[in-house]
Amino acid sequence: MSIKTNIQYVRQLRDAAAERSGRKGSDVLLVAVTKLHSPEEINEAIDAGITDIGENKVQEILDKYDRVKPVRWHLIGHLQTNKVKYIIDKVCLIHSVDSLHLAKEIDKRAAQHGLVMDILIQVNSAEEESKFGVTTREADQLIAAIAEQCPNVRIRGLMCIAPFAENPDDIRQYFAEVKQIYDNYAAEKTDRIDFSYLSMGMTHDFEVAIEEGSNLIRVGTAIFGYRDYRSEEK
Ligand SMILES: *Cc1c(COP(=O)(O)O)cnc(C)c1O
Repeated sequence: MSIKTNIQYVRQLRDAAAERSGRKGSDVLLVAVTKLHSPEEINEAIDAGITDIGENKVQEILDKYDRVKPVRWHLIGHLQTNKVKYIIDKVCLIHSVDSLHLAKEIDKRAAQHGLVMDILIQVNSAEEESKFGVTTREADQLIAAIAEQCPNVRIRGLMCIAPFAENPDDIRQYFAEVKQIYDNYAAEKTDRIDFSYLSMGMTHDFEVAIEEGSNLIRVGTAIFGYRDYRSEEK
């Protein structure tokens, strides 16, 4: 199957799930996750209508940036503070902010470039030790602290990576909890806290995530096929 066909298929599933939740497919942004895929494959996806791509490593963004057609770049993986400076003027949204320390560095670098950086707070409501993100309880504190101390950062919403479940129905509750926090903030917008994105759902669970209120899905495998992680061991 071609990348184009895969994208059409993902869009159909997205549109149907959006309708089941009383929305339109176009209300749910499809971010194509391009990690470990080549600029040629990414350009094929862009030719097929993809407007937003997600990478989880700073180095991969830098390696591919000049070889990919104009598109919006999202940083979706864990971000080390010392690497913020490399991507601050390249990405439109950082999905993985989970500490004030990181937000302050983003704020500092954004100010140097005269821009305001859009970020999402990564929540980990399952409190799995292996994953990054703040607990649902910590989220409120972190959001308040960033809003107060980081004038060049705008908090645009939340991101989560659900625990893997054989049956995505089993993580419905997880998505619903994150949606609840999202709704609290979406109701009261300010300059600094302007919630518009609820980033949840990947290849194996995006339909359930949309049914539970996601408006941004991050899909890699269903578009590009399986990733060859061996090529990472350089
Ligand atoms: C890799 C990745 C995805 C995409 O995963 P697929 O299962 O390939 O769709 C989504 N979000 C994050 C944070 C990722 O690292």
